[in-house]
Amino acid sequence: MKPPPFDYVRAEHLDHALELLREHGEDAKPVAGGQSLIPLLNLRMARPALLVDINDLPLGELAVDGSTLRTGALVRHHALCSDPRVSATNPLLGAAARHIGHRAIRHRGTVGGSVAHADPAAELPLVALACGGRIVARSAGGTREIAAAEFGNGPFMTALEADELIVELRWPGGGAWGFAEFAERTGDFATAAAAAVVLTGRVAITGVPGSPARLPTVEAAIRADPGLAAEELRAVAEAELREHEPHLAGLVAEMVVRAVAQARHRERGAA
Ligand SMILES: Cc1cc2nc3c(=O)[nH]c(=O)nc-3n(C[C@H](O)[C@H](O)[C@H](O)COP(=O)(O)OP(=O)(O)OC[C@H]3O[C@@H](n4cnc5c(N)ncnc54)[C@H](O)[C@@H]3O)c2cc1C
Repeated sequence: MKPPPFDYVRAEHLDHALELLREHGEDAKPVAGGQSLIPLLNLRMARPALLVDINDLPLGELAVDGSTLRTGALVRHHALCSDPRVSATNPLLGAAARHIGHRAIRHRGTVGGSVAHADPAAELPLVALACGGRIVARSAGGTREIAAAEFGNGPFMTALEADELIVELRWPGGGAWGFAEFAERTGDFATAAAAAVVLTGRVAITGVPGSPARLPTVEAAIRADPGLAAEELRAVAEAELREHEPHLAGLVAEMVVRAVAQARHRERGAA
């Protein structure tokens, strides 16, 4: 299918983009890598009157701020897989990004686009939740910072207003971590994935309604017994997941067990 007609403006600077979003509100959509938005246009599931291309904006920087990695919204997925500052600061992010689509998609797709799109099976919103990430959003009216835990409002819905642009993402690092994913084929979206971070005590998953989500019962069980055996951990995870999704509970629980095992292994290696 072909997309419906739309106007297109390549924003020349940040204020230009923000002004266009303010002026056109719900009728306008920023386009970054286009890897999610363009298919939606072609399927006519999105019908913006105006596309605001943000690719010329200076939002492609990566920086390390103490133990936190800061990525401009236009940092591409492939940079997460290859930049040594990512592996040094938040290796969980790089490990998860390697599972995003195929090479060509990772070279076009952006971190801001992925988090704004909020696909419930996407890797980066899951990592943001697991590491306690923060999203910096800007509009013509000012800048605000939103915790990843408060950013997602359900599948493909976020706390972003129509006139706001994600300009930066902050990814706190540190601590042993684990990431496990099951997808039907290489490059497919995750059927089930889990990330665990020992330092924060967070265990987050995708693959059930409401994803990405943390698993408070699993987190409490690990807090109570940091050495909880795999079989017991699986049982706790499966029971918690079954409440939301009986069919995938076993698979997601297996990803939880693997992610936690990896995190424990790294923790032992670091000790
Ligand atoms: C075949 C295929 C397989 C894929 N597999 C995966 C996968 O396994 N895992 C995965 O996570 N993703 C996958 N994707 C999606 C891909 O990662 C996209 O890059 C990502 O979802 C969106 O990033 P983008 O830069 O392309 O955003 P775009 O497509 O340009 O935009 C997506 C949405 O975000 C909004 N947006 C973009 N940038 C901003 C911003 N800075 N501020 C506010 N709103 C913004 C747009 O208006 C739009 O609503 C796949 C895509 C394809 C085509």
